[in-house]
Amino acid sequence: MQKQQLLYKGKAKSVYETDNADYLILHFRDDTSAFNGERVEQLARKGQVNNKFNAYIMQKLSEAGVETHFEEQLSHNEVLVKRMDMIPVECVVRNYAAGSLVRRLGLEEGEKLTPPTYELFYKDDALGDPMVNESQSVTFGWATQAQLDEMRRLTTQVNDVLSEMFDSAGMILVDFKLEFGVFKDRIVLGDEFSPDGCRIWDKETKKKLDKDRFRQSLGDVIEAYEEVANRLGIPLD
Ligand code: UDP
Repeated sequence: MQKQQLLYKGKAKSVYETDNADYLILHFRDDTSAFNGERVEQLARKGQVNNKFNAYIMQKLSEAGVETHFEEQLSHNEVLVKRMDMIPVECVVRNYAAGSLVRRLGLEEGEKLTPPTYELFYKDDALGDPMVNESQSVTFGWATQAQLDEMRRLTTQVNDVLSEMFDSAGMILVDFKLEFGVFKDRIVLGDEFSPDGCRIWDKETKKKLDKDRFRQSLGDVIEAYEEVANRLGIPLD
């Protein structure tokens, strides 16, 4: 597949067209952003680590029956994916309280959430990705109720598969965000799954091993991502 013109440059990935209208190439850059793009830094190896991390997780999810846009890892920083119509609603599951939930509801970080919570956010940088509900998503035409039902079912399935995977490797999957799109009338998992879009803590020490290390200036950001990959047995070379 030939890489063609740049279609879109996101905060961490660039999207290129290919000579096949059904496929795109994602290029994972080293750019790391937080606070809605207010802070951006280059972190060496990040593009490569996230590309390989994402490829591994997408393949595991696919084996578990979750259809994803992942087709083939093309290079250290590039992946071939299905070209989808993205649904502008982010799906967030939380197994433990952290981040915006703690700020919004005054909870203590680390409180176990039973059952896990499920939240939707409208993907709009200018509005700061506000929290929305299913009714608003349908009213404003972002997704149909049937699509939202499928997104929730798939997000729950992803949580079951990945919580178990992280637990077996001595880590806690605290929360994560997924994005879906439509490919040939099916709801398919898109974007990426990497330590940029989830929270992962060490089970014993509760050490943060995800993008909170960048948000909170804790240092050793990519070293932590690599540690997670190593524990899961994800090859990074
Ligand atoms: N998240 C993300 N992109 C966003 C917002 C959130 O990937 O634009 C992820 C975030 O890394 C965390 C989960 O979604 O794993 C829940 O994020 P939260 O609502 O707590 O927001 P934050 O505290 O990161 O602002």
